[in-house]
Amino acid sequence: MKLQEINKLDIADKKIFIRCDFNVPVDEFGSITDDRRIKSALNTIKYCLDNDCAVIIASHFGRPKGGFEDKFSLKPVAKRLHKLLKEEVKLAPNVICDETIAMANELKSGEIMLLENMRFEPGETKNDPALSKTLASMADVFINDAFGVSHRAHASVEGIAQHFDIDSKAAGFLLAKEIKFFYHIIEEPKRPFVSIVGGSKVSGKLEALYNLIPKVDKIIIGGGMAFTFLKALGHEVGNSLVEEELVPEALKIMKEAKELGVKFYLPVDVIAAEEFNADAFAKAVTIQEIPKDWMGLDIGPASALLFAQALEDAQTILWNGPMGVYEMEKFARGSTKLSHAVASSYATTVVGGGDTADLVRRTGDEDEMSFISTGGGASLELIEGKILPGVKALVLEN
Ligand code: AMP
Repeated sequence: MKLQEINKLDIADKKIFIRCDFNVPVDEFGSITDDRRIKSALNTIKYCLDNDCAVIIASHFGRPKGGFEDKFSLKPVAKRLHKLLKEEVKLAPNVICDETIAMANELKSGEIMLLENMRFEPGETKNDPALSKTLASMADVFINDAFGVSHRAHASVEGIAQHFDIDSKAAGFLLAKEIKFFYHIIEEPKRPFVSIVGGSKVSGKLEALYNLIPKVDKIIIGGGMAFTFLKALGHEVGNSLVEEELVPEALKIMKEAKELGVKFYLPVDVIAAEEFNADAFAKAVTIQEIPKDWMGLDIGPASALLFAQALEDAQTILWNGPMGVYEMEKFARGSTKLSHAVASSYATTVVGGGDTADLVRRTGDEDEMSFISTGGGASLELIEGKILPGVKALVLEN
């Protein structure tokens, strides 16, 4: 897949509309607690400024009910952007209103304007054609740099792109990097290619599993989803998370893996707890010995060793989903050990999904990974083999 990229466009002196993902976490006082998403958009913004463009930036933030709400205003983002860029950032009074349109019209080369939270407009999530047309009318060029929402057909992500021809729209540096990394790794991996899939349920990752099985050499399953597979193999898993209705799918996936010669790894032991609670009494048991009424909340030490060994010859590792309830210290060891094993491997390592990205930051392995995706849902859809709606309009050739 070849994307139209920002550096291939003639943008000098033009008015650019950049869709960013500034949906940053804030504390109870509204202060930004992690500005990585803002920092990662700076390359594209600075590139436009260096090319004497007038820059209009749009983003969503949180989940407002569909009208202006002070607590979802992009005011703190405008301030942080100003601090990082050391340039004035004009915050528009709303997404679209006469004043905003006038501001956009008057915006000069080298100036930056930030629209208010896109989700203050109910038409944003409905991909309202009237809204996308008005947004498009503000600029000469459209740049999508919001990977985290590119799996959504929203007005400022997908609809707007329809109003620009291919020489006036492109992926920003961040979006292009995300797509290239994922696409390359899934379609042309160095082998052995090992995928680690964890998280809560099979249902959330079913399509991803079906797309991965024909492409990988090994697949490692952990987290809550492992129990549906273990149950399908006839193990007694107590009160662990099981999706009974997906037992036939689990069997089908394992059969397909076997037919294709894919090595399929499941936990051989777990940390079982009496209840779903950070202070619950817990112990390591083999999967043959999970006490009735107990639940597996992490992989056990033997599984962590087994999985690490399976990763030893890997040239490419794609990881999505934790091995246990890593948010609780008692059930974080399996995920932590695996994080260290992935980090210390010589493979190209790609981590996708909000929880897994959060996990590798907690374990201190962040800098050792080749690439950490900024988008959870979007990266999962790429693993599922889909072309994201927000990317489709920017594709030059498949
Ligand atoms: P997902 O959103 O499907 O990637 O799942 C991530 C969530 O799965 C995390 O919040 C984990 O706490 C949870 N999780 C991982 N392992 C288990 C388990 N054995 N039982 C219940 N939840 C789990």
